[in-house]
Amino acid sequence: RLYNELIELKGNIRVFCRCRPLNTEEASKGYSSVLELDPSLDMELQIVCTDSSRKKFRFDHVFGPQDNQAEAVFAETLPVVRSALDGYNVCIFAYGQTGTGKTYTMEGTSEDRGVNYRSLEELFQSSLERCSTMKYEFSISMLEVYNEKIRDLLAENSDQHAKKLEIKQTADGTQDVPGLVEAQVNSVDEVWDMLKAGGRNRSVGSTNANELSSRSHCLVRVIIKSKNMLDGHLCRSNMWLVDLAGSERVGKIEVEGERLKESQFINKSLSALGDVISALASRNPHIPYRNSKLTHLLQSSLGRDCKTLMFVQISPSTADLGETLCSLNFASRVR
Ligand code: ADP
Ligand code: MG
Repeated sequence: RLYNELIELKGNIRVFCRCRPLNTEEASKGYSSVLELDPSLDMELQIVCTDSSRKKFRFDHVFGPQDNQAEAVFAETLPVVRSALDGYNVCIFAYGQTGTGKTYTMEGTSEDRGVNYRSLEELFQSSLERCSTMKYEFSISMLEVYNEKIRDLLAENSDQHAKKLEIKQTADGTQDVPGLVEAQVNSVDEVWDMLKAGGRNRSVGSTNANELSSRSHCLVRVIIKSKNMLDGHLCRSNMWLVDLAGSERVGKIEVEGERLKESQFINKSLSALGDVISALASRNPHIPYRNSKLTHLLQSSLGRDCKTLMFVQISPSTADLGETLCSLNFASRVR
């Protein structure tokens, strides 16, 4: 409860910044880190610009290269996940340039699992702890938005993957995607296997899987149904875990044909997301959900009475300075 009160005080939108370590390739090319962190301030970072000036940014939390998946990142994410069990609709995003650790934060690796696995683990654990009064049921969907088309990543066969899915308005004013697989899950390991299998279905267009994954949004939806055994009260909430397409602006020369179309769709949907979150943050009465498939899909989980958490992922490398500043400016706008 205390956690939820804390979030209440801080508002429903939180932005975390996470900077990955400088990798060996970058170091061997002579790039250095542009990141300056003051260990006594966990909400602030400074970027060293080319002319040695400093640009300061503030977020709800800043994670540096040393901060790990569990004790650092997930510990701060936990309150948002818990509020999903309390009936809030929740969205957790990873935003940033390709190669900055979006997938590392959300999916993680088998050795060092990320937010997706840990969130589900928390849901299963807490539901057991509460089992004397509450009965919970969880189900998973996984989908991809590529060039403004929705694909079901949990569908059984490739015919179904190719089938175009549409967003429909339901009678209660929420959004639904008829035909989307909704798999009931009973353990966290079952979820992990399912998400792995879903990930392998992200295969359209490109020959290089990593290339493609940077140009589509990957969304995992957890539906949480609960019944309070004391008063019979039923509740249903969604938790969306979103690994966004890479935010980088592609160079003018290399961009043509299919690639140009992709990057226009990505720019459009990421700026639509930025517009929605900043409208929410600024209490603007009009929230422009309909400008992209991404925001339309998330509409009922991306509102004032929902919890939103965005990880802004950055690279420490001098080579990425321009993109890093773009991402930090984007994030400052939505905060
Ligand atoms: P993105 O999904 O944004 O394109 P990835 O998650 O694929 O980026 O990360 C790029 C590489 O950097 C991967 O090899 C990943 O394991 C590594 N990496 C990212 N963040 C971290 C981190 N915080 N600690 C260690 N390695 C990281
Ligand atoms: Mg990725």
